[in-house]
Amino acid sequence: NLDTIEADVPYEELIPLARTVQTDRKLRENNETMRREFTANVSHELKTPLTSISGYAELIETGMAKSEDVPAFAARIHKEARRMIALVSDILQLSELDSTQAARGQSAPPDMAPVDLAALVKEIAQTMTVNARKAYVTLQYDAHPATVQGCRDQLVELTTNLCDNAIRYNRPGGHVDLRCGVGADGCPYLEVEDNGIGIPQDSQSRVFERFYRVDKSRSKATGGTGLGLAIVKHIALLHDARIDLQSQVGTGTTIKVTFPKKS
Ligand code: ADP
Repeated sequence: NLDTIEADVPYEELIPLARTVQTDRKLRENNETMRREFTANVSHELKTPLTSISGYAELIETGMAKSEDVPAFAARIHKEARRMIALVSDILQLSELDSTQAARGQSAPPDMAPVDLAALVKEIAQTMTVNARKAYVTLQYDAHPATVQGCRDQLVELTTNLCDNAIRYNRPGGHVDLRCGVGADGCPYLEVEDNGIGIPQDSQSRVFERFYRVDKSRSKATGGTGLGLAIVKHIALLHDARIDLQSQVGTGTTIKVTFPKKS
C-alpha cells in the first residue's frame, strides 16, 4: 500500500513502486471479475440439467407421464445427472490445479517425476479406442521414446481431454492420430491430430477459456463440459509446456504440447 510508504523514500523510487501497486490492483480486479464470471457460469451450467431432471421427475411423480414415456424420461434424467457429475468433477479438478499452481511459488509440486510419454500414449490410445469406435472414428498412435518430468495423472488427463475432443468434434469415417516423441530441438512433445470439423479462426484463441464453446449444442450433445481445454491449458502451464493449435474449418485440428528440453 502506497499510503504506508515512509515519507523519506525518494520520488523516483516511488514511481516503479506505484506501477507495481497499480498492476497488483489490476490483477486483483481481473481475478475478481474472472471469479465472478466463473461462479455465474457454473451456476448456469448446473441449473440447466437440474431444471430438466426436476421437470421429468415431477412428470413421473405426479402421474402425468404416460407409462410408455417413463423409460425415456428416466433415461433423460440419467443423462442430465451424468452431465452434472462430469461438470462437478471438472470443476473440482480445475480447483485442485488452481491450488497446485498457487503452492508452486513456494516449492515444486511433490508428485513431479519422470513420465514415460510413449507408455502413456499407448495406454490412452487403448482406452480411447472404444469411444472412437462408437463415433466411427479410427484412432491410431505413433509413440517414439520421450520422457517428461511431470505429474503422470495430470498428463493422462491432458492427453485424454485432447483425444476426447478429437473424437467428439470429428465425423464418421474420420481419424485421430496421437503422437509423442522428441523434436529436432530436443524438446519432448505430445500431439493430437484429427480431420474433424475444425475450429474457426476467430475462436482459436478462445477455446482454452473456461466454458467457451464454438457450438454449444454439439458440445452438450456429446457430453462436453466446456472445461476440457481449460484443464489442458492449466496442466500445460504447471509443466512449463507450450501449446500450439493449428486448425482449419472442414479440414481438422492439430494440438501440440511441447515440454521444456531439460525436463
Ligand atoms: P467441450 O467440453 O465443449 O468440448 P473444451 O474446453 O474441451 O470443451 O473445448 C472448447 C471448445 O473448443 C469445444 O466446445 C469445441 O467447440 C472446440 N474444440 C475443442 N477441440 C476441438 C477439436 N479437436 N475440433 C474442433 N473443435 C474443437
